[in-house]
Amino acid sequence: MATQVLIRQCAKLRIGSGLRTRIWDDPWLPNTDNPYIESEGPSELRMATVSSLRLYENGGWNIPLIRNLFNVRDQLLILSIPLSRHARVDRWIWGDDKRGCYTVKSGYMYLLKLHNQIPPVVGINWSHIWNLNVPGKIQNFIWRSLSNVLPTMKSLRHRRIEIPEWCPLCRHEEEDGLHALVSCSLVRNIWHLTSIGSYIGSAISITDWWHNLTTTRDSSDIEMAAILMWNIRQN
Ligand SMILES: [Zn+2]
Repeated sequence: MATQVLIRQCAKLRIGSGLRTRIWDDPWLPNTDNPYIESEGPSELRMATVSSLRLYENGGWNIPLIRNLFNVRDQLLILSIPLSRHARVDRWIWGDDKRGCYTVKSGYMYLLKLHNQIPPVVGINWSHIWNLNVPGKIQNFIWRSLSNVLPTMKSLRHRRIEIPEWCPLCRHEEEDGLHALVSCSLVRNIWHLTSIGSYIGSAISITDWWHNLTTTRDSSDIEMAAILMWNIRQN
């Protein structure tokens, strides 16, 4: 799949302690063309992590071991990676932006989720958002809403901005994405006027709600909902 190829090109691991990175399965070498180890490894080491190539916990590279295991290309790339004596976690980072990396952000989100760096977003068909027949700014807005990057009272407080967590409209409940766009009692009155109605069922988050909507409604309802969500946020 083309997306997977792009993810392989765009997402890379930055080595911290090396504990979370598998030597032969993860893209951790500083080389854009192939960030994977090329040397064949002994089968008993297939599951080994990069941390085992260090002299001791958070120590320097074990150069004799690296010489023994890898070809010259891999050796040079490994030894060019600076190591920290402080215990840092290995992290996925987004590589250069030249090859359409931005457009496969959903794939990146998937990788982050896989490695527990953000809470899982279940069942969202991300590419569907970009195929909705609505203006680009609305597609973008929906994408941001579902990625939980909208500045709601709750998310701003998470960033330690001193504001009340209550919804500024109803002043009754905490304002997260679901509340701001769908479940606030004042917003529900608007939904009630549409064919979608104000029913939110068992949705516990805006992604949950969107997933329910997009799996039970036709595209004209979904597009209308997208436009309405955008309008609600403008007011
Ligand atoms: Zn409210």
